[in-house]
Amino acid sequence: MRTPLIAGNWKMYKTRKEAFAFVDALKDLLATFDPKRVEGWICAPYLALVGLPEALAGTSVRVGAQNVHQDKEGAHTGEVSLAMLSEVGVEAVILGHSERRADCGETDRAVAEKTEAVLLAGLTPIVCVGETLEQREGGQTAALIAAQVSAVVEHLTRADAPEELASKLARLVFAYEPIWAIGTGKTASVADASTVITGIRATLTRGLGSRAEAVRILYGGSVKPDNLGAFLAERDIDGALVGGASLAPDSFAALLTVA
Ligand code: 13P
Repeated sequence: MRTPLIAGNWKMYKTRKEAFAFVDALKDLLATFDPKRVEGWICAPYLALVGLPEALAGTSVRVGAQNVHQDKEGAHTGEVSLAMLSEVGVEAVILGHSERRADCGETDRAVAEKTEAVLLAGLTPIVCVGETLEQREGGQTAALIAAQVSAVVEHLTRADAPEELASKLARLVFAYEPIWAIGTGKTASVADASTVITGIRATLTRGLGSRAEAVRILYGGSVKPDNLGAFLAERDIDGALVGGASLAPDSFAALLTVA
């Protein structure tokens, strides 16, 4: 009932020229994937977003950003708003990636506010959570992930939350990305990823009730075409958030084929 989702996070890779060359190389093949069977997303750097949805028209692949500001507009130098993203056809936003939490001091509170803003704007938030190696070795993974997820859910379900938010909660997407598995070639074991992701769904169920069943939860961290299938075979793992292996047209297409 939850459609598998493969989201490529291009991070700070690809100029506009490189982004459009990627789409040119892949367009005919991407048009053959059925979006009811697998959803593909490309989360590109801001400048590459302009024109990308049009370039991907006729394929099942949609376009996401990697961050957004929570305010509608304002004096926020260097930031980009949801209206700006929507105007160019962006449909999803990655939020709270560990690289932004580390590089930009993004807090659980900011991630929660951004998640609310993205849902209210009619876009899909992909909310990232994950632990460091030190936290994993210290036995803190379950508590830490539950706290990161709860910060978002409690914000979305607080007493004075806008009423229209409730109908949009099923569009939430979470991504479990253990920080030590990102870009390292080391994945979490399928069993460990599955345990954490089942825990995320339990936390969601406590906050959202039966609506949690519709929320998609992805695994991210050194996912490649040859290890993706094992993650997707798990009941609670609904797809993957992929960095390095989403950058080459062949390997992005291979990920969609596996899913
Ligand atoms: P890699 O797939 O390169 O490990 O990156 C994962 C990631 O951070 C996706 O958001």
